[in-house]
Amino acid sequence: MSRKRSTIDRPAVMDRYLPYSRQNITEDDIRAVTEVLRSDWLTTGPKVEEFEQAVAEASGVKRAVAVANGTAALHTAMFGLNIGPGDEVIVPAITFAATANCVVYQGGTPVFADVDPDTLLLDPASVEKRITTRTKAIIAVDYAGQPCDYDALRQLAEESRASLVADACHALGARYKGALVGSLAKLSTFSFHPVKPITTAEGGMVTTNRDDLAERMRHFRNHGITTDHRQRELQGSWFYEMTDLGFNYRLSDLQCALGLSQLARLDGWMAQRQALARRYDEEFSKIPEVTPLVTRPEVEHAYHLYVIRLSANGLAKYRQEIFANLRAAGVGVNVHYIPVHLHPYYQRTFETRPGLCPKAELAYEQILSLPLFPAMTSSDVDDIVGVIAETVATFSGCGKDLEI
Ligand SMILES: *Cc1c(COP(=O)(O)O)cnc(C)c1O
Repeated sequence: MSRKRSTIDRPAVMDRYLPYSRQNITEDDIRAVTEVLRSDWLTTGPKVEEFEQAVAEASGVKRAVAVANGTAALHTAMFGLNIGPGDEVIVPAITFAATANCVVYQGGTPVFADVDPDTLLLDPASVEKRITTRTKAIIAVDYAGQPCDYDALRQLAEESRASLVADACHALGARYKGALVGSLAKLSTFSFHPVKPITTAEGGMVTTNRDDLAERMRHFRNHGITTDHRQRELQGSWFYEMTDLGFNYRLSDLQCALGLSQLARLDGWMAQRQALARRYDEEFSKIPEVTPLVTRPEVEHAYHLYVIRLSANGLAKYRQEIFANLRAAGVGVNVHYIPVHLHPYYQRTFETRPGLCPKAELAYEQILSLPLFPAMTSSDVDDIVGVIAETVATFSGCGKDLEI
């Protein structure tokens, strides 16, 4: 792909728009779904168990419970841990809103902790400060696909008798000190939205080694009923009992067949994401105004996102203009995320205010997520970096003019 050179007021332009993320669907995926369409079970059938077992294996645990989406996975996890009114659950300020919303669904109180500015991962020191006698769980978010500091978080959870949950929606396939994401917390949640590491269109999963919790969550995703339609068919019985108030959070066999087909390509995709990220890292080492997030040596990063920070001295104050310029030039930048405690709902309902998580709030002003998905090539990366270099040069100059 070529990039048109241009002057300062007309930045270089990509010859096609690259979004920050995009699904990858093959003929095999389509065949897998159409086979299910011709079968007896469109939902609650054998593909669900097959996909659950495959994801359990891919995350190094015994059990996996498939649900309708990643948000349902988080809600199901909170139900599994019996979170309720009066309980506090610590969540990072930088995450998708669903990480905190799931606590509220159960009547609990989300407590926002700050992040490490180098990685934007939940900072154990901030978690420690937020722990009270009401703390019942800690949700670690493997932001961008990088696993959190699980040794430190596990120790804090043990000391405070809280349950550690991983929101691993970005991180299927990643590892921490050799151990697969999905096996690092009591419960781990995944999303299979089209932008995520693998997709089922909409879909989610909770993984665990705890049989009792898996059973409880399996009932929750089916109205809180003890048997599902297929189990009753197999048993030749009509009887069922509703033992808890659950939801219909089931994932269909069509979606599970797609998930199985996608999962077979996860390792290759992750290697491609890592290679593209290395290329970005190399190129940005030549551009001092742009700093990529740090990857810790003890992790294998899944690179759901590639996130840069604009330098605080000048550039960051033009983030809005830089964002608009890059979008106009065909670079589908995004911002992950607006700190959750700053959203009007949280300010209104939980009286969270700016200043609560200063590192997250500062980072939010400076970050941009760049295009990264397996179908991209290293020359796409070079083109994107070229466009960014020119845009950055434009606004660095601007900053100097203003300072004079
Ligand atoms: C995508 C995502 C979710 C929600 O997943 P859905 O499948 O969209 O409901 C939750 N947490 C994080 C960190 C996510 O990225």
